[in-house]
Amino acid sequence: MTVTDRRLAPYAASDATSRGRRWPEPPPRCRGEYQRDRDRVVHSTAFRRLEYKTQVFVNHEGDLYRTRLTHSLEVAQIGRSIARAMGLNEDLTEAIALAHDLGHTPFGHAGQEALNHCMAQWGGFEHNIQSLRVVDRLEEKYAGFDGLNLTFECREGILKHCSPARARELGEVGERFLRQTHPGLEAQLANLADEIAYNSHDVDDGLRSGLITIEQIREVTLFRTLHDEVLEAYPRLTGRRVIHEVVRRLIDRQVVDLITTSQKRLKESAPEDIEAVRNAGCPLIAFSEEMLALNRELKQFLRQRLYRHYRVTRMSVKAARVISELFEAFKGDPGLLPPESQQHVERAAAEKGEAGRARVIADYIAGMTDRYAIAEHQRLFDPMHTT
Ligand code: MG
Repeated sequence: MTVTDRRLAPYAASDATSRGRRWPEPPPRCRGEYQRDRDRVVHSTAFRRLEYKTQVFVNHEGDLYRTRLTHSLEVAQIGRSIARAMGLNEDLTEAIALAHDLGHTPFGHAGQEALNHCMAQWGGFEHNIQSLRVVDRLEEKYAGFDGLNLTFECREGILKHCSPARARELGEVGERFLRQTHPGLEAQLANLADEIAYNSHDVDDGLRSGLITIEQIREVTLFRTLHDEVLEAYPRLTGRRVIHEVVRRLIDRQVVDLITTSQKRLKESAPEDIEAVRNAGCPLIAFSEEMLALNRELKQFLRQRLYRHYRVTRMSVKAARVISELFEAFKGDPGLLPPESQQHVERAAAEKGEAGRARVIADYIAGMTDRYAIAEHQRLFDPMHTT
């Protein structure tokens, strides 16, 4: 047991029981294996790009909205709090949380859908699988290997879903989708911390933008209950402070529910170790039925009133056009790509033909930030634009 494993529950991921890295490396000297994973994610290029990638609102729409970066930091914060409270591995939870969105395209879901459409004949595009591709192959930082060479546990946490066909191509990390087993608790936890984060911050950003109003969102049971609670406790409170007070309670309620329900499940199932967690037959980190129903209602509201708001839709349509036109332009003439990407295209085309060429172009586009994609689109399509 290393110094970092001291307070861990027996079923938590630990350095001692890790399935290790794809390319064996000497153990780190002054930190744990999962701290090393986390550190590698933070130092990656893809991580820095998250600062200029859309969560819901396109980056240039306002300075205060969540970006993929601040979203990922909130997921890490929520995940770490829960991990520590439950004796799970905080470092691994943090590493998964910070890496979970590395494969996102510019312009959020609109960008991902457009790229998936462009890639339909060549296996499609899925941001979650792309996150794994970024940490396994696309980062070029280390002398001894491509990617970040993260631990198996971190990689299994990043890969949240996967079709059986794709799972077969992915080797060890894809096996659980074929065998219908579960990932470690830290992976299950990071996944739900993601949900807690976006449910809560999308309420905050939605209200800030004025696309939804307090009157509208009071339709949602969970919001209404907490809003009434705040107004009763602080009758003279007004403006943004009311919203903040509701949002912090929204996070707190979900976190406490998740911890309580999961602790009950863990007590009942009493897994001996992480392997027992993987073979438990059901996820052991979960919300209560009651919270699930409340969350479902909130999500449905956000989908209808925020994600499908006509102003969000207008931006999504423009974003999809930028992505599709970039893809078609590069696909039609890879000579438009910067020299380094052209070399990648040639190598991939020699190995895998048309599919290889398309995949490198998708990698290049997926790696762009919102503003880089817009600038690149102007450079390619606006004749008045030089370079
Ligand atoms: Mg996310």
